[in-house]
Amino acid sequence: MRDQIKELEARALKDLEAVNDGVALEKFRVTYLGKKGLVTALMRNLGKLPPEERPEVGREANLLKKKLTEKFEALKNRIEEQGQRAFRGIDVTLPGRKPELGHLHPITQTINDVCDIFQRMGFRVVKGPNVELDYYNFEALNIPKDHPARDMQDTFYISDTLLLRTHTSPIQIRVMEAQKPPVSIIAPGKVYRRDSDVSHTPMFHQVEGLLVDKGVSFADLKGTLISFVHQMFGKETGVRFRPSFFPFTEPSAEVDIQCVLCGGAGCRTCGQTGWLEILGSGMVDPAVYGFVDYDPEVYTGFAFGMGIERIAMLRYGIDDIQMFFKNEMRFLRQF
Ligand SMILES: [Zn+2]
Repeated sequence: MRDQIKELEARALKDLEAVNDGVALEKFRVTYLGKKGLVTALMRNLGKLPPEERPEVGREANLLKKKLTEKFEALKNRIEEQGQRAFRGIDVTLPGRKPELGHLHPITQTINDVCDIFQRMGFRVVKGPNVELDYYNFEALNIPKDHPARDMQDTFYISDTLLLRTHTSPIQIRVMEAQKPPVSIIAPGKVYRRDSDVSHTPMFHQVEGLLVDKGVSFADLKGTLISFVHQMFGKETGVRFRPSFFPFTEPSAEVDIQCVLCGGAGCRTCGQTGWLEILGSGMVDPAVYGFVDYDPEVYTGFAFGMGIERIAMLRYGIDDIQMFFKNEMRFLRQF
């Protein structure tokens, strides 16, 4: 039996030397120290020895069990520590990094808000081509080739008849060509003019509105636009209509709102007047109906157009239009 103990010890120590990971270590434990392990079986067999041999052999068997258990524990600690060292440099208690979420550009937000307001009033959103025929951009809007209004707009021409639209108004003509009244549309989009300074960019955004039906009056125009201003800038905002001129509306009016910065007292932004111009509007000129085959004796309507950048600048208190197009993250993150 003593030889058996020595043999078992030699075998166990040799096996233990080969152990280099947790799996091998567990296999070692089961083989020698587990409930059905060799050492455990050895201890159980002690009872079969003659009584006089039992104390001596029992002592040796216990020593072996103690020795193997100690070596097993020491190796277990070492393997665990190695595992932890592999994790060093990673602080698993730190919160994870959130992927950055983008959001809508302030210009897109403003377009959506303007369209939402008019959609709630029953207007339908439509779009038109950025590359437009001279006919739709000027001619059919009562701006013939020799009309002085063409000087007001520095146009990007692609050919004699093709251009980048200078306003969203051509969409009015395209819609009226395609459908009979009643018409109520809101048309957002990019427009292009050869202009660039703190209040102009070569590309900017407009929203165009058009409503044509029987019995539409200037009072409808006023009611619609005042309601828009109150929803966009607040119920207390003052609104005024100022006579103006556009080739495709008659009569025409520019709409001013009470200065959002000084509340009407007068400041640098409003040029000390207390008012800010935000859009142009008017009753559709009967001459325009001639281009789309509407009977001006039966139908009347109004149209309006506004610059989205202008609305966004007033809304957010921005004084340089170029900021919208610089892709400056510190600027864009604020919205
Ligand atoms: Zn002001």
